[in-house]
Amino acid sequence: MSLLSAMPAPFSPPADLLDRVRMSRRPLLIAHISPDGDAIGSLLAAGSILYHLGKDPVLACQDTPPASLSFLPRYDRITNQVHEEVDLVIALDSSDRERLGNIYDQGRIRSLPLVVIDHHITNTLFGDCNWIEPRACATAEMIFDLAQALEVTIDTQIATCLLTGIVTDTRGFRTSSTTPRVMRIVSALMETGADLPTIADLALEARSTELIQLWGRAIATITVHQGVISADNTLEMRVDLGRLIRAEGLASFLLGSRDAQIAVVFTELPDQRIECSFRAQPGQDVAAVAYAFGGGGHALAAGCTVDGPLEAARERVLARLYESLRR
Ligand code: 5GP
Ligand code: MN
Repeated sequence: MSLLSAMPAPFSPPADLLDRVRMSRRPLLIAHISPDGDAIGSLLAAGSILYHLGKDPVLACQDTPPASLSFLPRYDRITNQVHEEVDLVIALDSSDRERLGNIYDQGRIRSLPLVVIDHHITNTLFGDCNWIEPRACATAEMIFDLAQALEVTIDTQIATCLLTGIVTDTRGFRTSSTTPRVMRIVSALMETGADLPTIADLALEARSTELIQLWGRAIATITVHQGVISADNTLEMRVDLGRLIRAEGLASFLLGSRDAQIAVVFTELPDQRIECSFRAQPGQDVAAVAYAFGGGGHALAAGCTVDGPLEAARERVLARLYESLRR
């Protein structure tokens, strides 16, 4: 028996979703703004699966995917301008419509049927057809099941994209969403020839020297109070660091502090708004806090963007976090 056929019950795509995908000739796939490894891995994997079904998918994301993911096959195919006549929209890893960014405002895209494939507990069910699996460790785990349902063989390239999504969203198999089933899927993906150690190194460890410098500046601002470790990433810290905006990975690093149940990084955006990135220890729920501020995510990893200035935003958000910790 192959590993794939020995797999426990998969997450099942709704029949309606499968029908819409099969009927489409040129679907538009959208990954969320500020994309991460799961958004881009799921986008590229789903694109290849649909291509194997004889479709002509368009892959889009408002923001340029992180250069650290440029090793992914067909990374260069991702566009931020949709000129083609598409007939279906598939949103990936996106918990609300705002996460699709300006891609969703282009041409007649808003008038097309919208399918949502996501694993965020805070998903607002904003599609015409919503397939949401909060127990999935990554949207990429769901795309694995989608390939099975559509009877598409997963090749090395698709496997590389799916492994990237799983490795990044589980932070290297360290989240509680890392089930035995996930490890069986990982094993099956490795059987296709995908190189897990290299993927894990490129997707989790490789970072620019500028990013490490930014971490250094942000870490110099940390405060620890009432179980929350907090750091700032200001515009001023980044003036000499080129196009770098986010201190990617920093919130997870700060949560290593045994004095904290919650870590938060406040990033000053060019439009003066403040992006908040939350990480929490098991038992906490930062998704609820993020949701209260119009964002979303998972219980232990979530985010939102609020109005500035930084001091006022920090005060408001920290007050909510302290309150959430007292519960
Ligand atoms: P990160 O801190 O890595 O940017 O995000 C952590 C998690 O929260 C991810 O699952 C991400 O999709 C979600 N998230 C971050 N920011 C936002 C936001 O502004 N809105 C929503 N809905 N989710 C967010
Ligand atoms: Mn994800």
